[in-house]
Amino acid sequence: MSGSESRMRAISAVTDYKPVEQPLNFAAEPTSELFGVNVFSKNVMQERLPKAVFKSLSRTIEMGEPLDPNAADIVASAMKDWAIEKGATHYTHVFFPLTGATAEKHDSLLTPGDSGQALAAFSGKQLIQGEPDASSFPSGGLRQTFEARGYTAWDVTSPAYILENPNGTTLCIPTAFISWTGEALDKKTPVLRSMKALNEQAHRILSLFGNDNNEFIGATCGAEQEYFLVDSNFYYTRPDLLTAERSLFGAPPPKGQEFDDHYFGAIPERVLAYMLEVERELFKLGIPVQTRHNEVAPGQYEIAPLFETANIATDHQQLIMLTLRRIAEKYGMACLTHEKPFAGVNGSGKHVNWSLGSASAGNLLNPGDTPHDNVQFLVFCAAVIRAVDKFAPLLRSVVASAGNDHRLGANEAPPAIISIFLGDQLTDVFKQITAAGSADSSIESGTLTLGVDSLPPLPKDAGDRNRTSPFAFTGNRFEFRAVGSNQSIAGPLVALNTIVADSLDHIATKLENATDKGEDLNKAAAVVLKDILEQHGRVIFNGDGYSDEWHAEAEKRGLPNLKTTVDALPALLEQDVLDTFEKFNVLSNREMHSRYEVYTEQYILAKNVEANLVLKLGRTMIFPAAVRYQSELASTCANLKAVGYDFDTNTLDKVTTLIKDLQDALDALEIENEKKVEGESIDHAKHYLDVIVPIMNKIRNAADKLEGFVSDDLWPLPTYQEMLFIK
Ligand code: ADP
Ligand code: MG
Repeated sequence: MSGSESRMRAISAVTDYKPVEQPLNFAAEPTSELFGVNVFSKNVMQERLPKAVFKSLSRTIEMGEPLDPNAADIVASAMKDWAIEKGATHYTHVFFPLTGATAEKHDSLLTPGDSGQALAAFSGKQLIQGEPDASSFPSGGLRQTFEARGYTAWDVTSPAYILENPNGTTLCIPTAFISWTGEALDKKTPVLRSMKALNEQAHRILSLFGNDNNEFIGATCGAEQEYFLVDSNFYYTRPDLLTAERSLFGAPPPKGQEFDDHYFGAIPERVLAYMLEVERELFKLGIPVQTRHNEVAPGQYEIAPLFETANIATDHQQLIMLTLRRIAEKYGMACLTHEKPFAGVNGSGKHVNWSLGSASAGNLLNPGDTPHDNVQFLVFCAAVIRAVDKFAPLLRSVVASAGNDHRLGANEAPPAIISIFLGDQLTDVFKQITAAGSADSSIESGTLTLGVDSLPPLPKDAGDRNRTSPFAFTGNRFEFRAVGSNQSIAGPLVALNTIVADSLDHIATKLENATDKGEDLNKAAAVVLKDILEQHGRVIFNGDGYSDEWHAEAEKRGLPNLKTTVDALPALLEQDVLDTFEKFNVLSNREMHSRYEVYTEQYILAKNVEANLVLKLGRTMIFPAAVRYQSELASTCANLKAVGYDFDTNTLDKVTTLIKDLQDALDALEIENEKKVEGESIDHAKHYLDVIVPIMNKIRNAADKLEGFVSDDLWPLPTYQEMLFIK
């Protein structure tokens, strides 16, 4: 099949697409009845467990109390019966390796009995601990071959669930993944440890204000996921999308996103059908998805759940990504969660909304109507300001990835400079505190009148929004907008929990010392707030983060601007970062080093795959198409000359020059890609960034220009026009 034939087939498959045979019927099976049916939830546990066991388990889940090992057998047995009623044949300990993926190894629930029969058995030991081996996951040096054991440990705080497949179901148990030496090999363990640290420090503040009622103060998170959908036929005829989730070639389409006609537009029928099924599956898993809409780029969409505690939100976020991909296949599409599948149109992010609180304490970042006299809120808010300024390079490093490098700073996503948007009201309150040592008013929010009598007056939010800020206060939470769409949210959450715990510790120590000396709490708090704002106020910026002026201004303020992953990752190893993570028992120095190694390696791997793809596609698809066209042009010229016509070699000249550029750059890429780079892995990564990426860009540049010349029927790859607009 020629390249263009495969494109034509793809297009007819898209135009002949028929909706799935059995449409979903939400009226017959209402969402309320569907929600959580596949979750071993608190309700299910309460029904199925002896009272005492249920109570002790609840204390572990809600208060973080140690797990009672005697309860495990009883829970395991109840879980097994429940799962088998739901059709499960196997169970799996689900874990989250440092690659950012979700990993599972399935074991049968059946074991042979004495007389050859099959018995369903699932012991407490099997529930609590697994040993998946899984030694091929990167450990960044934490696992040597001589101590290669790796264990999974049941995370009681994240509920078990059933994953359906048309041919059977599997009981899934969220777990932590740790080495023989007890070191974290995964993304979940540090999330749990950081939540513990945050809880402890938040309690010190709450008890100072007399508001401590001994409930676990949990970090909360709602993560908005952006993604692209393309028809599978295009996806499978684009080896770059298939392998790297990013198109490495492709000229811009005649029309891109400049009309903003896709953003919030009517959702295409096939896409909406897909979304409905995704949501239905997520509901069954107890994931409270709430919003959906078209995003800015053509073919780009967003899904967002209601917020949950950080650990559960993280597990659910992984399930959302898996479900988005899985269901897309059924609708003849591929879901791309890469940060930049298509050059020239917006990339995808994952906005991590973060706060902290508990049922009785409420949301600790809720300013109320008059934030100036809500000192406890101001303390928590200032803790975040201090943390983000003090650890800005760390925050940049936890959103660093080969994919996200294409987004940050590209005028569609926040810049690589970490700053905070606070909005007018809070900025004003903090200004009063720095100027006068206290604040005595809050700018009122007021109402919006619309000038049309039939439209109701709308209550106005006290703060406006700012879409250009990497870290924005949005009314009662912070929104970390720099996170990439393909990343696990664990890294950003671990960082936030830990650095805010550090700030709360700093503030609590000062306030405790002051009140121990008999000083007034509010007065002492004002002094601490003023101090924090003086030292860290530079991180607050309410203006346009995309503007050049901000880059200049940020430099004046001394804010770091770590443009690439290679610049950002070393921040993980800054002494202050290592000390802080060790102090709060979130990651030991060794664990932190291992992450640095793994993430550097991931960058190298991603770039290496891209370089291999560029070589392969450049040589076997684009170059041949271009020389075929060149030969057509050349023979036309020769024929015209033979019959005595004047002819013009203009196009032939241009095509020939581009082919030469393409060929030279491909040869250069081959040499550089095979070069053995001396030094550490970061030097290897630098080689990709400084040497290989520019050559890849040269190749793309020549290829994309050739796409504008070569006869369409010879062009082998689906075009941007086709992939983005044929739905
Ligand atoms: P927007 O696009 O305007 O930012 P969305 O509704 O798409 O808003 O997403 C906002 C996200 O913030 C949701 O996931 C929501 O549940 C979450 N959120 C709201 N309150 C909190 C909170 N206290 N802590 C964490 N996340 C929150
Ligand atoms: Mg949003």
